[in-house]
Amino acid sequence: MTNSSTAAAAQGTGEAVVDDLYWRDQYEAITEDDAFLRDIVEGSDLPALMVALAAVTRDFSLLRDDLRPPQPPAEITGMPHGGMSGEQQVQARELAFAALKRVRDEKLTGVGTLTEAQAQDILTWITNAANPEYHPMLMHDMALVEGHGGKPKWNFRDIAVGRDFSVAVIGSGVSGMAAAYRLKQAGVPYTVFEKGHSVGGTWWKNTYPGVRLDTPNYAYSFSFAQRDDWPQQFSQGPEIFEYTRQVAERGGILDNIEFNTEVTSADYDETTGLWNVDTIDAGGRPATRLFNAVITAVGQLDRPKYPDVPGRESFAGIQMHSAEWDNSVDVTGKRVAVIGTGASAYQIVPAIVDQVSALTVFQRSSPWMLPTKGYYDDMPDSVQWLVRKLPHYGQWLRFWQHWLGVEGRQHTAVAEPGWNRPGSVSAVNEKVRRELTELLASQYQDRPDLLAKVTPNYIVGGKRMLRDNGVWAESLKKPQTTLVTEGLDRMVPEGIVTKDGVLHEVDIIVYATGFQASDFLEPLQITGRKGADLHEYWGGDAKAFAGITVPNFPNLFMVAGPNTGHVVNGSLYSMIEYGVEYILEAIRIIVENDLKGLDLKQEVLDGFIEKLDAASATKAWGHPSVQTWYKNRFGRVSQIWPYKVVDFWNITRTVNLDDYNQLA
Ligand code: NAP
Repeated sequence: MTNSSTAAAAQGTGEAVVDDLYWRDQYEAITEDDAFLRDIVEGSDLPALMVALAAVTRDFSLLRDDLRPPQPPAEITGMPHGGMSGEQQVQARELAFAALKRVRDEKLTGVGTLTEAQAQDILTWITNAANPEYHPMLMHDMALVEGHGGKPKWNFRDIAVGRDFSVAVIGSGVSGMAAAYRLKQAGVPYTVFEKGHSVGGTWWKNTYPGVRLDTPNYAYSFSFAQRDDWPQQFSQGPEIFEYTRQVAERGGILDNIEFNTEVTSADYDETTGLWNVDTIDAGGRPATRLFNAVITAVGQLDRPKYPDVPGRESFAGIQMHSAEWDNSVDVTGKRVAVIGTGASAYQIVPAIVDQVSALTVFQRSSPWMLPTKGYYDDMPDSVQWLVRKLPHYGQWLRFWQHWLGVEGRQHTAVAEPGWNRPGSVSAVNEKVRRELTELLASQYQDRPDLLAKVTPNYIVGGKRMLRDNGVWAESLKKPQTTLVTEGLDRMVPEGIVTKDGVLHEVDIIVYATGFQASDFLEPLQITGRKGADLHEYWGGDAKAFAGITVPNFPNLFMVAGPNTGHVVNGSLYSMIEYGVEYILEAIRIIVENDLKGLDLKQEVLDGFIEKLDAASATKAWGHPSVQTWYKNRFGRVSQIWPYKVVDFWNITRTVNLDDYNQLA
């Protein structure tokens, strides 16, 4: 361990970490007494606290090898303090208490960046010496070591001598914002087209009652925008939307966004190497603009999917999709139907159950749930205090949460070769299923009728688990609630008729039935080389190299494209950021080499997809028995990254020119 205890050197250095829009130099001074500090240490998760203290005091001897959090792989939920033993905790708390006193007594109210060696020490400790292959990725993600974030290390004006070049970004949700911010940092001229009137994408659109995060909040943020004062562990929708708005503002990208402007088509002109991008504004006025590259950042969870049931238009009451919630509708005293029991329904039902006169939930399949007792809780006072008073504590908490989720529970979803017991893919997968089933049995012990209906019949890890703090079971057990498992037959003016012929009379129908996720980039018309139509080329089976590029569509790049999602681990933000960094690197190559463009070779995509499909087949979500929106109509998994997160990091670090035809 490096042991430099010259804490003064770390104090209020005024150094700016360039790659964090929420970077702060100064924190509030600690004025509280020893007893208070003891309580803070007692109530804190130790790994994040220990590394924050080591960083601020520059005393890395705190991070003793024998106190490393062992981090047994999480099967359902992770262990507190990364699985540190009782004895480790006692010793770590003593060290933490002394260090926290030192922060107070020496008035350490600021901390600068870390050197690479210091960051290595911290990484080795906090990851319990995980494979060093992860270190560059994690240094990027922590954004506390200068030069290791995702900020481009080049600038357009230095490499584009005499060259006009501009990029169209389609969409200003979190993917489009990441792309815009990196383009701005690199000085590349760009325009973002957004069909709505705000940034934030899904967090702008989804305003249904109860909308909130289902991944830990600190980790659900950009590495370049590490907000540290989240009010809750799983914040509510408006809070996340506000974050996206703030990031756009702080990142200085708003002026480059054309709101209320929908891109309808993009055509590649082989002669000029330019994309003709057709737009239509809110007044219906069409326009065509020329760009050298197009980045699509349109998300997959944008276009609502409705159940294919006859008579929908005949329903006489109000009907709305979860993503198109009409906040002028008052559900109070109404008979409400909620169709679907996925992530959106799980948040809507508990939020409205006490307002309605009757709630009928239509379930096709019941989801597995991840026990999360504190799902609705506010961030503990101790965390809020540490965020204000211990420099960079929020960043370290984010980092710790992020690291725990990087490969997370992926091991529970990997199929064991030769495993042939129905309902699971491996011994650990079966164990998780058994434990979750027992939890359900205890939740519904007073309602065996419901237990039979809510016990899922698919493999754990086949779909993303929902966060459960007990409110779903409570909602289903209420006298005003009916859980209907018979399939939908038709809709009539009075309500919904199920396959058993029963009419469920309702005033309002809520479709929590998901999105047309497999139809990547629909309804955009995209024409590439030699008139190739992207949707014809895909034929409903979207495939892209690393989810980013497609043969015959030069300089068309996708963020959050096919096979970049996750089920049991990983972070949406990482996948977006790493993908955007690959795109920026491709743009650098095109500009620097004065190319018209880069066109992926078909054989590269074919080889990539062959391996990817084979990897999907070895995961719970790829199992033939599992039906999800991760699979397209051909049964192929087109949504999920089947490898480790670090594999995506590695593949997006370099643009291998041999993979592309270079268009001069
Ligand atoms: P979803 O997960 O696709 O769930 C749709 C639900 O509707 C499923 O229960 C599905 O049943 C049901 N359904 C679809 N067609 C039906 C039919 N004809 N009859 C009866 N039921 C039908 O959609 P979502 O809940 O909107 O969530 C989509 C994704 O958005 C999630 O997976 C998640 O990634 C994201 N999300 C995240 C959050 C968050 O907290 N951050 C919140 C909401 C959504 P089957 O299961 O049988 O298909």
